[in-house]
Amino acid sequence: MSRNEFFKALHRVVLITLAMMAGSYVLLAALMLFVGLNDVFLHFTLATVFTMILAPAGAFPLILMSDRLRVMKNDLEGLLRLDGLTELPNRRAFFELAEKTFPRGNRVTLMMVDIDHFKLVNDTYGHDTGDRVLRAVGQSIQRIVAEAIGGGVKFTARIGGEEFAVLVEGMTPAAADRLADDLVQRIHAAPVQGDDQMIPVTVSIGVAHGHAGDTPGLVLRAADGACYLAKRRGRNQWCDVDGQNARQGDATAIRRDGQVLPARTAA
Ligand code: GH3
Ligand code: MG
Ligand code: MG
Repeated sequence: MSRNEFFKALHRVVLITLAMMAGSYVLLAALMLFVGLNDVFLHFTLATVFTMILAPAGAFPLILMSDRLRVMKNDLEGLLRLDGLTELPNRRAFFELAEKTFPRGNRVTLMMVDIDHFKLVNDTYGHDTGDRVLRAVGQSIQRIVAEAIGGGVKFTARIGGEEFAVLVEGMTPAAADRLADDLVQRIHAAPVQGDDQMIPVTVSIGVAHGHAGDTPGLVLRAADGACYLAKRRGRNQWCDVDGQNARQGDATAIRRDGQVLPARTAA
């Protein structure tokens, strides 16, 4: 227990004790009136001494316990919204935030970011290394999104195995496109350290802008469709729902041998 917690609890114990003393005097007065207790000094002393001992003895542990329970409840609520592997917010946190953001009526852009050929990473380097790649890529996405210029709320979550969702509010479509481009390029440019080699990683991204009346689920599905288009076009690129703005020409993919090859020859 910290000093601060102790003094907060003490403050409440003093208040409870004073309230109980006041209550016991009222009770004493009623007893004197109706039962006819006549040794005022004795009863006043008993009422004071008993409440001064019993009230803190009962209240202090109860207050400490309830404070501890409140902290545990807050911690648990935090954990319910956190992905244990990447320490990013999870799917539940993403939709809770999106449900609050959409009704504000500002422009909202959602992105579905999916690691390319991630199954091959697991198959080639093992599941533990796959986990390390997921953590590194998730944290890179979160950092790049947080650093993006323009807009208000910027949020990254891991919403599935190797799938991340990004929400940006109030960003112009051009700025959102730049962010998607930045994500693709910077993740491609930063292989993840494996046990004894660098592991190349690329992502495909679908970008969808919310319009009046849209729900987060609907816009995320549109982003997922756009992500699928980016995959079909060779991966390591982003695409919006109309198939526009995709960076083309340098599509790459991870191969079983760990090489990054042109899309035409990719698995
Ligand atoms: P694509 O480029 O089409 O997205 O191919 P992909 O291999 O990335 O996609 P696919 O859906 O075939 O495979 C996803 C893989 O992600 C399969 C699954 O074993 C792996 N995966 C999901 N969650 C985890 C995890 O928590 N840790 C690890 N290491 N792997 C995971
Ligand atoms: Mg996937
Ligand atoms: Mg994938």
